[in-house]
Amino acid sequence: MVPEYDHEAIEKKWIELWESEESYRAVADPSLPKKYVLVMFPYPSGPAHMGHVANYSLGDVVARYYRRTGYAVLHPMGYDAFGLPAENAAIQGGIHPAEWTRRNIELIRNDLKRLGYSYDWSREISTCEPEYYRWTQWFFLKMYERGLAYKADAATNWCPSCSTVLANEQVLPDGSCERCGTLVAPRWLNQWFFRITSYAERLLEDMEDLEGWPERVLTMQKNWIGKSRGAEVDFELVSTGEKIRIYTTRPYTLYGVTFFLLAPEHPLVDRLVAGTEREAEVKAFRERMSGRTEFERTALEAEKDGVFLGDYVINPLNGEKAPVYTANFVLLEYGTGAVMAVPAHDQRDFEFAARYGLPVRVVIEPPDGGLDSETMTEAYEGPGTMVSSDRFTGMPNEGGKEAVCDHLEANGWGGRAINYRLRDWLVSRQRYWGAPIPIVYCDECGAVPVPEEDLPVLLPEDLELAEGGKSPLPLTPSFYETECPACGGPARRETDTMDTFVDSSWYYFRYVSPRADGGPLEHDEARYWMPVDQYIGGIEHAILHLLYSRFFTKVIRDLGLIDFSEPFSDLLCQGMVTKDGAKMSKSKGNVVTPGDYIDRLGADTLRLYILFMGPPELGKDWSDQGVEGAHRFLGRLWRMVHERYLPGAEDAQAPLEDQDAPAHREMRSLTHRTIKNVTRDIEEFAFNTAVSFIMELVNGIYHYTSEGRPDAAVLTEAVTAAINLLAPFAPFMTEELWQLIGGQGSVHAQPWPSFDEELARPREVTLVVQVNGKVRDRISVPADIPEDEMKERALACRNARKYLEGREPRKVIVVPGKLVNIVV
Ligand SMILES: [Zn+2]
Ligand SMILES: [Zn+2]
Repeated sequence: MVPEYDHEAIEKKWIELWESEESYRAVADPSLPKKYVLVMFPYPSGPAHMGHVANYSLGDVVARYYRRTGYAVLHPMGYDAFGLPAENAAIQGGIHPAEWTRRNIELIRNDLKRLGYSYDWSREISTCEPEYYRWTQWFFLKMYERGLAYKADAATNWCPSCSTVLANEQVLPDGSCERCGTLVAPRWLNQWFFRITSYAERLLEDMEDLEGWPERVLTMQKNWIGKSRGAEVDFELVSTGEKIRIYTTRPYTLYGVTFFLLAPEHPLVDRLVAGTEREAEVKAFRERMSGRTEFERTALEAEKDGVFLGDYVINPLNGEKAPVYTANFVLLEYGTGAVMAVPAHDQRDFEFAARYGLPVRVVIEPPDGGLDSETMTEAYEGPGTMVSSDRFTGMPNEGGKEAVCDHLEANGWGGRAINYRLRDWLVSRQRYWGAPIPIVYCDECGAVPVPEEDLPVLLPEDLELAEGGKSPLPLTPSFYETECPACGGPARRETDTMDTFVDSSWYYFRYVSPRADGGPLEHDEARYWMPVDQYIGGIEHAILHLLYSRFFTKVIRDLGLIDFSEPFSDLLCQGMVTKDGAKMSKSKGNVVTPGDYIDRLGADTLRLYILFMGPPELGKDWSDQGVEGAHRFLGRLWRMVHERYLPGAEDAQAPLEDQDAPAHREMRSLTHRTIKNVTRDIEEFAFNTAVSFIMELVNGIYHYTSEGRPDAAVLTEAVTAAINLLAPFAPFMTEELWQLIGGQGSVHAQPWPSFDEELARPREVTLVVQVNGKVRDRISVPADIPEDEMKERALACRNARKYLEGREPRKVIVVPGKLVNIVV
């Protein structure tokens, strides 16, 4: 009798044993090479979801594989535990964010343990604990010391629903809040920033070293940084003579400037109209714009809107006067907030000119000519030849760009300049559930950093959210009343907290020495384990989290704590798990919960299925039949080992003839081929095909043991390989089977199976060659021979040639791997 495959009992038993023996503890061993395998840590919003299972199962296979191929492996887990959802839950459910968060950490931790992931649990971290955010604050102070953290007035993206500002990166392309979908509104506020722009060039340059990153992620980052080469030009304001600097990527259109634009937020706007009749017009204009997002203002189809400010600038190149307007589509944040307008060659400028009756002047003639400012219906933005451009007339625009820049530089009117689309990172949030910014304000001394030895600035956890979910920190004197560290006088603490992206920008450093209390990381541990060798996570983090982490790593290097510049050597972005082709969501009612499947079919089944669903990078659609199929396969393996291998299983069978019978050789060949294929596929993250190969091997063992009494050594080799190869995918059952077949120690501590290249070579099959339907020959060919080659080999064999008698075949019918019929 085969005992039932009792996944519940098996999984429970091994979880407890692995935990008590600390089987997956990471130990730095200088005599071994290392692998740091990292999965993006979860936001604890409840139990694990299928996205977690997909990501973490990938990571676990990689970690388990490297442990068995001679590496010391660090595979940690923690929680990105600050953030808005905890507050939203508090608003809705009346539960404190801290309690909600810690409760969810319990839930997800429990699921991750049940899934058998081989984390070193002794390194678990949580970003909302003082022992962690003390160092988040420490990094803030280091940034402040180096001028990398600063406070400035800025037009910010305000989410009215979340009652907080958002970083540009947190505003979706349609102008809505990344977290809640509400349309973001602009608001002018004094905010904290990290000067990521001063690292723009290094962030770009170092991408050269990121060979292990997906190309699309690099492209997204490159576009986000948005480096462009152009020119800066100073235009002189007629009324005061002051210079206004603009940036343009197309200096060859400078002779086409017919007016000049300022962003509505540009400080000059108010100055120019102060006390004039235009003041009211500007006010009305701003009112029309209030509540419009940047996205709405700059959308190509947005109606162009503006006000003449009553002044002019002089174009240094031709001395012409151009009227100054403020316009809705000009942003203060980009460039300098002032732009030259070239309506003939810029569509927005063209529309603005059309609305306000401003002149249009063609200065770039398209290759096929015929552009007329009187008749053109849209701007021409393509390449061409410079015309009406004084000494530059006749030059191709690209060559003209350099010539104009030379001319600007020679005359001191401006010159070549590089511009980035990247803005500084806005890190302050008017929220409660985050790491307090370690700054105090003193009337005498201004902003003063909290001394390092006074860290952490504790977030009081005994406060309730204020009316409307607002932060209680500015309403709590026991929090904000303090002494100035510089003069000892009364001072007030900063009540803003940090963006949670700050917490997650350095967490992978903390794992190397999670309990270090002399600094954020211990040098020896960091030197051994860092950088991360393999990072795995969702493509949705392609820009924000990865860019911020790269920035932090460069800053940490500049602080002298490490000697490398990039945190993640290799990056794998896994696809989303969907149900019926749609993203799983509560509102659609199509959520499948890992816990249910673990209860019913076991963690091994769930892991195996999710890895078998398809290549990791692609999206995967959940199927209940699929998961049942994975469960049946595990049952089949379980029965195979009991019925065909364990003592007493097969004695009744008659022995196969001799040691050299083809069946033995074929079994061995399949075993070695499977080891070879699975090893290669794991290294290439083709986990789905790796699982297929193991399934084929199990089928092969059934077949072999059905033909007659198998050779004990051949069978042992095959069964041992199957269990060993499947171990990273289904760690519980394989551990149980390993023990049952008398394996020593844990299967997860065994050296990875090796293969014999000779035995692993594709086996030969016999190919039947027919001529006009009659069997004329049998030839031996490799089993995986392509069809073309089958045809060739059949036509070339002796008997086929004999029966063809030099005739051209009319048709050749190929049955792959079996038969070729030549029709003459
Ligand atoms: Zn929001
Ligand atoms: Zn002071």
